[in-house]
Amino acid sequence: MSRLAFVLAAALLGSAAGAQETLRFETGLGRLVITPLGHGSLRLDVAGMVIHVDPYSQVTDYARQPKADWILLTHDHPDHYDEAALAAVRKDGTRFVVDAASAARLGDVGATVLRNGESTRMGDIAVEAVPAYNIVQKRTNGQPYHPKGAGNGYLLRFGEFVVHIGADTECVPEMAQLGRVDVSFLPINLPYTMTPQDAAECFRRIHPKVAVPYHQGDFDPQIVADALRDTDIEVRVLPLR
Ligand code: ZN
Ligand code: ZN
Repeated sequence: MSRLAFVLAAALLGSAAGAQETLRFETGLGRLVITPLGHGSLRLDVAGMVIHVDPYSQVTDYARQPKADWILLTHDHPDHYDEAALAAVRKDGTRFVVDAASAARLGDVGATVLRNGESTRMGDIAVEAVPAYNIVQKRTNGQPYHPKGAGNGYLLRFGEFVVHIGADTECVPEMAQLGRVDVSFLPINLPYTMTPQDAAECFRRIHPKVAVPYHQGDFDPQIVADALRDTDIEVRVLPLR
């Protein structure tokens, strides 16, 4: 899809703001409410904290979103690192957990920078950066859209309850080593990430209780659900272009 078409589609989604579906879970830290806002953007509400993940102003009106206690960024592509959305959700005291490239652009905000394999905490939530990169998909110059070691996926632990945020990635071998995952978000769009079929195979490898195909572009999340019908994985089909 062209960039313009994507922006138009995102604007249409944005006009339906307020209709977002939420995912609700009981965790060791109390009720966790995950609101997928569109594309790769999520909001997590737990224990009185608001966490925005990759806020992107093309998918929702962030002026109408609660301000962030924490902002979690996966990498600095424009659909994940968006100055307008960051400005809209920041408040005094907002703290950041980010990849190195985003940290360089944020400047002196006291961000916690994680590289793949590193961990920190957001309050009582344990955060681990996990690999997110391309194996097959490359730019015409031969460079992967997402080089290994640059961006972060994240594992968030709310007590024993584990949420996996895949970020922009293909089904890299490290997906088999994530351990127990309750909820997993994986992207489904070419050329930047992977196909719905590949994402379905990846969900089989991760084996979460709940799988959410996000970062969809023009790709159909129902294909993931159909491909996993023979499993006990619950696939949530949401419009997250
Ligand atoms: Zn990207
Ligand atoms: Zn992206």
